[in-house]
Amino acid sequence: MTGTAVAVIQAESLRHNLRVVRSLAPGCPVLAVIKANAYGHGLVSAARILEGADGFAVARLDEALVLRAAGIAGRIVVLSGMLSTDDARFAGTSDLDVVVHDPVQVDTLERAGAAGPRNVWLKVDTGMGRLGVEPSAVPGLVARLRICLGASGNLRLMTHLASADDPASDVTEAQLAVFREVRRNWPADISIANSAAILAYPGAHETPGTGDIPPVGRNWVRPGLMLYGASPLPDKPAASLGLRPAMSFESRLIAVRPMPRGRHVGYGGDWTAGRDTVVGVAAVGYADGYPWHSSRGTPVLVNGSRARVIGRVSMDLISIDLTGIEARPGDRVVLWGEGLPVEEVARCAGTIAYELLAAIGARVVRQVDDRA
Ligand SMILES: *Cc1c(COP(=O)(O)O)cnc(C)c1O
Repeated sequence: MTGTAVAVIQAESLRHNLRVVRSLAPGCPVLAVIKANAYGHGLVSAARILEGADGFAVARLDEALVLRAAGIAGRIVVLSGMLSTDDARFAGTSDLDVVVHDPVQVDTLERAGAAGPRNVWLKVDTGMGRLGVEPSAVPGLVARLRICLGASGNLRLMTHLASADDPASDVTEAQLAVFREVRRNWPADISIANSAAILAYPGAHETPGTGDIPPVGRNWVRPGLMLYGASPLPDKPAASLGLRPAMSFESRLIAVRPMPRGRHVGYGGDWTAGRDTVVGVAAVGYADGYPWHSSRGTPVLVNGSRARVIGRVSMDLISIDLTGIEARPGDRVVLWGEGLPVEEVARCAGTIAYELLAAIGARVVRQVDDRA
């Protein structure tokens, strides 16, 4: 009996979560963030399923080129990465939008000239302290970019929030205030909100024309995690936000063995049976992206019942305490998905849902279920 870890992707859940984004940010065009293999859900298939979005965002030029090669038309924004004039030419040839986050990239675009991209998003660091130009540099860079893009080009303004998942923090309001100043007389589109801001900061996706914001341009939102049905907010489970997990990460039991009290399980004999125990072994390990740090009691679902991981997670296998659960080799084990949120597994493993989803292993088979 063999087993293979699979990630079953529910197409309809992805589309449902996109509708949730639209209902929370009415009037805002949506850039579906599908970097990192669409958070493990499969880059090209996620793009096809989410074709109702107004565009896509990826981290790297290479990801964008893969999408174009697969025939994905429409807007694709490259969030980071244009390092050379060649990169700028690739972006131009493939009709990609690029984010400019450093003055050096303006030099690059000037060198590429008409061969470079026509759509540029100037990223301003309003307090995240990672990528972005200083607010004071914006007017000078805008003037240069306008010349470089010419009449056919389009310049948009964006920023990224550091703490939108923490409503107790005052950082987001401070960042929004800095950005409001930068965009005070901005005559075109902007973009601010990630998933957490879509869910928790309406001010990050307000329609231009409100308050002191000029009534021109649109405010694009950039959801990632919530599209996949996970919650970025620690105190708000995805289900309470109306989101549906799009991935079920599963494998199968390949052995079920009674072990007498006192027996050790796994590398280092880390776990000792305190009573007679039924131990199941499932065909999934850290090479599939199951977190090694789950060795201490992370829940899994076996035939719909909760059981716990025991002993160390190995490269290809995990052991599970199946005492009291009806189970046989071949039975399905759900690592996360419906009934077991990836956020809960992440907490047990001392990490975040983002890391677990993005780290799904290369040998995991993805199956798309598209019963609309
Ligand atoms: C990854 C990313 C997003 C999406 O963030 P989520 O928290 O997954 O919604 C949005 N904007 C930028 C610039 C990003 O890098």
